[in-house]
Amino acid sequence: ANSVFSACGTTIFETMSRLAQHHGAINLGQGFPEGLEPPPVIERLAQAVIDGPHQYPSMMGIVPLRQAVAAHENRFWATGVDETEVMVTSGATEALAACLFGLIEPGDEVVVIEPLYDSYLPIIRRAGGVPRIVRLQAPDWSLPRQALADAFGPKTKVLMLNSPANPCGKVFDADELAFIAQLLEHHDAYAVCDEVYEHLTYDDRPHIPLMSLPGMRGRCAKVGSAGKIFSLTGWKVGWVVAAPTLLAPIAKAHQFLTFTTAPALQAAVAWGLEHAGAYMANLPATLAARRDRLAQGLAEIGLAPLPCHGSYFLSADFRPLGFKGDDRDFCTHITERAGVTAIPVSAFFETDAPKHYARFCFAKTDQAIDEALGRLRRYF
Ligand code: PMP
Ligand code: GLN
Repeated sequence: ANSVFSACGTTIFETMSRLAQHHGAINLGQGFPEGLEPPPVIERLAQAVIDGPHQYPSMMGIVPLRQAVAAHENRFWATGVDETEVMVTSGATEALAACLFGLIEPGDEVVVIEPLYDSYLPIIRRAGGVPRIVRLQAPDWSLPRQALADAFGPKTKVLMLNSPANPCGKVFDADELAFIAQLLEHHDAYAVCDEVYEHLTYDDRPHIPLMSLPGMRGRCAKVGSAGKIFSLTGWKVGWVVAAPTLLAPIAKAHQFLTFTTAPALQAAVAWGLEHAGAYMANLPATLAARRDRLAQGLAEIGLAPLPCHGSYFLSADFRPLGFKGDDRDFCTHITERAGVTAIPVSAFFETDAPKHYARFCFAKTDQAIDEALGRLRRYF
């Protein structure tokens, strides 16, 4: 069958993780943390499984989790939401799909910023949307304002904004967000704000939700992920926060995507959001140190790391090593020969991708980072 989905390849994360497993490589590719999982939140899940309930929760999520998400929003970002403006989803991936299916009509244009997370374009296209792609400028991933303004037009319905951004670690600043807000108002468009890395910013760069800017409260659907907040990516609990009129069509899409999410997982996440504030507050310092450890090690080996101020990904230019081949070759090669896996950054571009960057995840133990660096050092 010919379709948007038959035409796309298997997601790079699955591909590289399978390859890593096959070769027994240290997997710094797919973004999942190791050694950072908070035991009390996991214990809470064990208790919730024993206590139940185990039947379908309401499609909007259990009330304690909706309340906990709203309280978390107000504690950290002062977005001023209440629990009726929160919908629980099965991971941010489902939240993004529900937002796009809920908001886009065939022919609507969607402005996206490249490099971009790999689920956006297939879902936009399956919803009948027409992507307008604006590219950040490497190596510092600056926002080309004129190109962004030019991508907006009378058919623009939605802008996808990922900050802190995967894979490039960009954290949009107040000035850039104000520019974006003015474009949204001018074109009467909405924003789907993928803020799954909301707590992971470094170097005193604050995370600023677009929703918190003047005039943006009713235009933004803000997506979060417990998997990212608690370093428990396999749990797949996420949410959408949006004003009632914006949330309503998104909820209609969600009811036919997954309808609901495992109640014990929801209960444990609700507990974590209320009680694990210290964990959230301490994670950035831990991860900034890991980023520096990895960046320094890669630089010593001869790669050229790019700046990273957020998320848990660091990209590096491998051309100084003299490697002949593109980024897919490089990532396959180091998996097979050095026993270290990374993700080719070209996977986050639609066309004419730069092909000389590899993305490494640094949300790992110091030992895993050191072992990976040792393997690369011995190989190159
Ligand atoms: N958006 C971005 C930018 C991500 O990096 C990820 C996870 N890799 C997701 C969404 C999906 O999050 P979840 O695992 O909660 O579905
Ligand atoms: N978001 C993760 C990453 O960028 C992976 C998610 C996935 O495997 N689909 O690595």
